[in-house]
Amino acid sequence: MAKVSEIYGSMVFNEHTMQERLPSATYKSLLKTMKEGKSLEIEVANVVAHAMKEWAIEKGATHFTHWFQPLTGITSEKHDSFLDPVSDGRAIMSFSGKELIQGEPDASSFPSGGLRATFEARGYTAWDPTSYAFIKDEVLCIPTAFCSYTGEALDKKTPLLRSMSAIEKQANRVLKLFGEPNQHIVPTVGAEQEYFLVSEKAYANRQDLVMCGRTLFGYAPCKGQELEEHYFGAIRPTVNEFMKELDDELWALGVPARTKHNEVAPAQHELAPIYTNANRAIDENLLTMEKMRLLASHHGLVCLQHEKPFEGINGSGKHNNWSLAAGKKNLFDPGESPMDNLRFLVLLTGVIQAVDDYQDLLRMSVASAGNDHRLGANEAPPAIISIFLGDELDAIVDALIDEHEYTNAEKVAMDLGVAVLPNFLIDNTDRNRTSPFAFTGNKFEFRMPGSAVNLSDSTMVLNTAMAKSLKDFADAMEGKSGKEFEAAAIDYIRDTLKAHQRIIFNGNGYCDEWYAEAERRGLANFRTTADALPCFVSRKNVELFEEFEVLSKTEVMSRYEVKLEKYNKLLNIEARVMKRMVRRVFLPAINDYAAEVASNIVTFKSALSGANVDQQEALLHKLLAGVKEIDVQLQALDAAHHAALAIANQQQRANTYAHEIIPIMDKLRGAVDAMEIITDRDRWPVPTYNDILFYV
Ligand code: ADP
Ligand code: MG
Repeated sequence: MAKVSEIYGSMVFNEHTMQERLPSATYKSLLKTMKEGKSLEIEVANVVAHAMKEWAIEKGATHFTHWFQPLTGITSEKHDSFLDPVSDGRAIMSFSGKELIQGEPDASSFPSGGLRATFEARGYTAWDPTSYAFIKDEVLCIPTAFCSYTGEALDKKTPLLRSMSAIEKQANRVLKLFGEPNQHIVPTVGAEQEYFLVSEKAYANRQDLVMCGRTLFGYAPCKGQELEEHYFGAIRPTVNEFMKELDDELWALGVPARTKHNEVAPAQHELAPIYTNANRAIDENLLTMEKMRLLASHHGLVCLQHEKPFEGINGSGKHNNWSLAAGKKNLFDPGESPMDNLRFLVLLTGVIQAVDDYQDLLRMSVASAGNDHRLGANEAPPAIISIFLGDELDAIVDALIDEHEYTNAEKVAMDLGVAVLPNFLIDNTDRNRTSPFAFTGNKFEFRMPGSAVNLSDSTMVLNTAMAKSLKDFADAMEGKSGKEFEAAAIDYIRDTLKAHQRIIFNGNGYCDEWYAEAERRGLANFRTTADALPCFVSRKNVELFEEFEVLSKTEVMSRYEVKLEKYNKLLNIEARVMKRMVRRVFLPAINDYAAEVASNIVTFKSALSGANVDQQEALLHKLLAGVKEIDVQLQALDAAHHAALAIANQQQRANTYAHEIIPIMDKLRGAVDAMEIITDRDRWPVPTYNDILFYV
């Protein structure tokens, strides 16, 4: 087997390959485009395209595609071959600079949330040279942004890139106050991906898993995760084989997959990569998810990426580890000197302000029908946003706010009156797993995103909200320097912390008291997607996106609509699958079993006069009562579902799904599940939680 160091990145047109393959002048101007956002001349693009094509063909590629992320959140690709027939009947392989830079997929079948009504259906894709091109299954994939001809972003990547520019600009203004030169500043992301693996056979026998990615029915297994034996446990051979193949493929694609382990729930696993620039990290996460889904089939497995495939046991998250890097320096490293620490406190305060002011947007950015089942349940953070700082930082914040001396564990006093801040050590060990937004030493970990989500939205919100905090600070401080700046900065930090202290919470986010406490503090608690989405289009939030040119009002509106429609469509599908499974799968099976019990009673009685059939009769009663209850809930669901479909307004329809239909679906599920545990195992028509979660 080839060495990992040889395989790694072998399918990526990375800087190393560029340098090797491009004339040095071309390489230099491409680097300028990548690092400084300079636009790419067509002459340069032609040379790059030729080199890319030659490289790709050597690696066995026959096609190329612009690889983009429409508002569905997943990736899209349309393969075009390099083939170019010539007059003598032969063909050459060609790929032009124009084809590299721009593509024209038909945009009309992608969700656009009304943008299509007002603008031309056509869209174009444009190369994002800051993400490397790569070869996947004999196709040269060029990561691209996707826009309409009038310039509206039709994808997830464009606003993300815009938000990265916004934060870079404002962060540079702030760093300038600390005497630093203008530099390349990027938000970094590390996306921890959780997933379930189930056997193909079990999966194929469950319409709910196939259609919805989650079980709509299923009684709790006899054993759940309470023994805590799965987390970090030895990895089963089948799973291990899958993980190995996945690692190999990801490494070849230059995806720095690093950590793999069994997660808390049975059949649940995690893969964490090494973090990188936000846009690349998100591309890589999407590639990872795709590879997981495809490779699982090589091992007789199906990879479930739904946020809550099984009720009552942990759902899957995708923690968004987020930080800011200036070159090699992590700006959330507290640093060595007092000035480094002051800078750190300015940035930390900026995050606290951003998360408090835009808590609604952050919650919205992770809202989905699937995640609604996860948030607030089994070891997932609640739907309320708060920040966990850890004991030491918390004490520093308190000291700043109360204007008292800060003494750390070693009792080293710090005088906050003058700008001498402590060279503090962040206690990395104190991890509060219950917090939705935690400072973890030198980065923030946003734990609300679910496993299925594209992290562009939450990263875009974080970047933009942070850009706003940094802008406010720079606006207030520019013109000040030296001691005057230091004193003003500390006052600014103090005032800002005072104003936003409510968002800091170091306690247990899982406990009931927190809900009451959060309400007292005035923190938002959007329990469902239907509740969370409207804030996207609130004036305050549209103004934020407009101010930093991340999204126009039209783009915000269109995204809101797409999210609403997606929610409604998913719930429509779930309601349909539920009804169909009840009518055609569960009711027939339960009735058959009841009939068998009934005929047994008759048989026993005729075989043995005076036979005691109490147990059989009681069971029959239960089964018939269960069937009745199922029917009642089924009719209720049917009526409510039809009523919902008649509601034209998408928001109102979403509200109906969230608050009227889901509760009925829960009841229907409960009625079916109650029959599962009293019905003959061999007659139960679908694999149960016991069967699925412990498949080897
Ligand atoms: P845990 O499970 O304790 O959260 P992991 O090691 O599984 O820790 O995941 C941490 C993730 O955070 C990794 O993907 C890692 O690359 C990422 N990370 C570390 N430093 C940074 C940073 N500066 N910016 C963004 N992500 C980071
Ligand atoms: Mg984590």
